[in-house]
Amino acid sequence: MKEDLEEDIKIAENMREMSYSPYSNFTVGCVLVCKDGKKYTGCNIENNGIQSICAERVAFTKAISEGKKDFSYIVVVGGNKNEKPIEECLPCGYCRQFMSEFVEKDFKVYSYYNENIKEYKLEDLLPYSFKL
Ligand code: ZN
Repeated sequence: MKEDLEEDIKIAENMREMSYSPYSNFTVGCVLVCKDGKKYTGCNIENNGIQSICAERVAFTKAISEGKKDFSYIVVVGGNKNEKPIEECLPCGYCRQFMSEFVEKDFKVYSYYNENIKEYKLEDLLPYSFKL
């Protein structure tokens, strides 16, 4: 499947608009792309009292709850509200572990910031994931 990262960056950027982040004012958007090309989006959703949920886990839970299992890559964009992303926003440790449950070794994470896109393999971001 051909990656259309320009389009995916736009989708992830648009998802930042949906972020509910009144406590941090840090908005994150992402798009999770399945091997069949279907795309699932996510944004961070904060909560005053219980743990917030990150954009990446929103996208994964949407996809998995609709029966999807084969994932190709995720594009993540984050930064201060109403500002262009100038610093890299990579998935947090919780999300790295969460994603590792559902992806294969070749799963890629793209991070867009400062007009650049960087590519990682999830296994490089989390080389020693917890496994039972
Ligand atoms: Zn996270």
